[in-house]
Amino acid sequence: MNANIFAAFEIIARQAGGAPFLETDDGQILSYAQMLDTTARYAHALTQLGVQPGDRVAVQVEKSARNYCLYLATLRMGAIYLPLNTAYQINELEYFLGDAEPRVFVCEPAELAAKSELARRHGVAHVMGLSDAGDGSLDLLAEAQAADFDTVQMPGDAVAVIIYTSGTTGRPKGAMLTHASLLSNGQALTQLWGFTAKDVLLHALPLFHAHGLFISGHCALLSGSRMLFLKKFNAQQVLSLLPRATVMMGVPTFYTRLLDQPGFTAACSANMRLFVSGSAPLLADTNRDFLQRTGQIVLERYGMTESAIITSNPCAGERRIGSVGQAIDGVEVRITDDQDRLLPADQIGGIQICGSGVMKGYWRKPEKTAEEFTADGWFRTGDQGILSSDGYLTIVGRAKDLVISGGYNVYPKEVEMAIDALPGVGESAVIGIADRDFGEAVTAVVVRKNDGLGGDEIIQALKGQLANYKVPKHVFFVPELPRNAMGKVMKSTLRDTYGKPVA
Ligand code: ATP
Ligand code: MG
Repeated sequence: MNANIFAAFEIIARQAGGAPFLETDDGQILSYAQMLDTTARYAHALTQLGVQPGDRVAVQVEKSARNYCLYLATLRMGAIYLPLNTAYQINELEYFLGDAEPRVFVCEPAELAAKSELARRHGVAHVMGLSDAGDGSLDLLAEAQAADFDTVQMPGDAVAVIIYTSGTTGRPKGAMLTHASLLSNGQALTQLWGFTAKDVLLHALPLFHAHGLFISGHCALLSGSRMLFLKKFNAQQVLSLLPRATVMMGVPTFYTRLLDQPGFTAACSANMRLFVSGSAPLLADTNRDFLQRTGQIVLERYGMTESAIITSNPCAGERRIGSVGQAIDGVEVRITDDQDRLLPADQIGGIQICGSGVMKGYWRKPEKTAEEFTADGWFRTGDQGILSSDGYLTIVGRAKDLVISGGYNVYPKEVEMAIDALPGVGESAVIGIADRDFGEAVTAVVVRKNDGLGGDEIIQALKGQLANYKVPKHVFFVPELPRNAMGKVMKSTLRDTYGKPVA
C-alpha cells in the first residue's frame, strides 16, 4: 500500500468526482475531479523543475485555490511542502531560506524580482510565480502538463511537510511531519468531529499555519466534503455564509469578532453543527457568551505545529468550557514535574505527549530535538496544564511564561482573567520582570477600552480577589499588545521592554 497521504485523498476524490471540493469567495468552484487534474499538472511541473522526493518546495503566496492545489501536488509527488507566512519580510526570509534550502521557492509573481536574488544566494534552483489569476510562471508551466499523474509511492515515515512554529517563544523551528502522522491525525479528527460528505467547512484560516493547511483541510479531503475558502476572516462575510456552512474552524479572535456582530444569533447559525477553536486560548467568558447567543458551545481543542491536534473536546459528549478536552486517538498525554516524573490528576505540571501524530523532529536541529524529547520518547510541549481524573486537559500557560515571585508560582492566565474582568479593561498580559526582593515581580501590561481604572486602582481591585503574591507589583498601559504574525501575544517582547529595573 502507498503510505503517501495523497493516496488516501485520491481514493475519496475519485468517489466524490464532480462534487465541489473548494469554493472561493470570488465564486470559483473546484470539484474533486478538477483538484485531481490540477494537482497532477503542478506535480508534473515540479518534476520538470527537477524536484525529487525529499526536496523542499518553499511557498510564500496569498491564500488561493491554486495555492492549496500546489500543497497537494507537492505531497502527491513526494516532495516536502514548506509554507511561509506571507507577513515575513525579506530579512526574515533570509533565515527561512537559509535554514530550509528549498529546491524551489514559489512567491507572488509581482515579488519575483525582489526575492529572486535572495533565494539564489541560498542555493534555490528555481524561483517561480504562482498567482490566483493563473499567470505565474509555475501556473503557466503547470498548464502545459498532462492532467494525470501517478501518485509517488512513499513510506509512512517520509517527511511530507516542514512547517515553522509561530515564533512566540523564540526563533521559529521547522517541525518535520510525516505522511503517516498527518494521515493518522486527519483520520482521527475526521471521525471525532463527525465529518461526512454532506459537510460544508467554512475555511477562513491562512494556509501557512498547521490549522489552515491541514488540520481543517484534511478533514474535508478525508470525508469528501466541501470547503468555503475565504481569503481572510471577515466577520460580516462569515456571518452571511453561515447559513450555507455546517462547520467552522477558527482561532479565538474569529469568535470574539463574530460576537461583536449584532446580527450573530442562534437563527443565523442554525445550519452550523460545529464551531471549533484552537491555536490560542479561548476565554471561558467568550464561550459562555457564545452559548448564550447561539445555543452552542464552541468545541475547544489543543494543538501545536509539532503535533497537529493533541486533545479535543468531544463532538457528541460533554464539551467542558475552559478545558481543551481529552487526548485524541493515537495520542497520549501526561503531566509531569521538572524531572519528567508523572504527576497525579489535578496537579499542574508540564504537558508531555507521545503517539503517531508527533513530529519526527525539528529540521536540522538535532540538539533541539533531543532536548525536547524525554529518555522514554515523550515530547515536552513547553505548555503547562492539569489533567482531570476523567482525562480532560486544562492549559494554564507556557512554562516559559510562568512567573516565580517570592518562591511562589504565579500562572499569568489566572491574573489576566481577573484583570480582564475589571471595568474598562480590553485585554492584558502578565509577565515576570526581574526584582531584587521577589526574584520576579508580577507585572501587568494592560490595554484599556476607555478611560478605565488607573494602575493603582487595578492593583487595589485585585487585592480582594487574588492572593497577595499574585497581585501585580507594576501596571503598564499600552494601546495594543505586541503580537506575532500568527496573532499570538509576544511576552518575550514585553519582558524585553519592561524588564529594566523600575524606579
Ligand atoms: P514557538 O513554538 O515558535 O514559540 P508557538 O508555540 O506559538 O511558537 P504554534 O505551534 O503555532 O507556535 O502554537 C502552539 C501553541 O499554541 C501551543 O504550544 C499552545 O501554547 C498554544 N495553543 C494552541 N491551542 C491552544 C488552546 N486551545 N488553548 C491554549 N493554548 C493553545
Ligand atoms: Mg511552540
